[in-house]
Amino acid sequence: MKDTLRILTTLECNLSCSYCCNNLFKFKQKYLIDLDLEYTNICITGGEPLLPNKIHLLKDILLTNELLDENIFILPKIYIYTNGIYLSYSLLNFILSFNNVKGINIGIHPDSKNQILLTYKYLCESNKIRFMIEDKYRSIIKYAENKELNYITWTRNECNMPNEDWILLKDK
Ligand code: SF4
Repeated sequence: MKDTLRILTTLECNLSCSYCCNNLFKFKQKYLIDLDLEYTNICITGGEPLLPNKIHLLKDILLTNELLDENIFILPKIYIYTNGIYLSYSLLNFILSFNNVKGINIGIHPDSKNQILLTYKYLCESNKIRFMIEDKYRSIIKYAENKELNYITWTRNECNMPNEDWILLKDK
């Protein structure tokens, strides 16, 4: 039994990274109302889930999850994956107002490397923020270490997640 549901709210993105894992798969598509949310973890990703024209889908998932009856099953932990470019302070506070959101993972990509400089000042106040840095970016890893940022490294082309079901969310 897989323990994680990865919901892609969209395949649209404001970046176009050559190594994007989304180029490798064909996705099952479902409406939110048809999704089985009885997983230990729900990862919300894309594409870019914070795109202004797609953010309503992320909000719908957070609100739906909050309405689930915790007497019936254990509520899943929610993790959000974003390139962070649209992550404003108010949006961050909105997302973190949902208790089940356990982490916001910000990927540092070639077109957004400087973003780590812009965001850490206010983002690091939340221990739910984690930066995801490709292992070849040694200088950024060093920077993150020096600033005592919460980060993990990742390796290109490691796209397979054997413990996850992947669903592309259908919009109306
Ligand atoms: S930011 Fe993420 S989703 Fe967007 S193109 Fe790059 S790897 Fe793909």
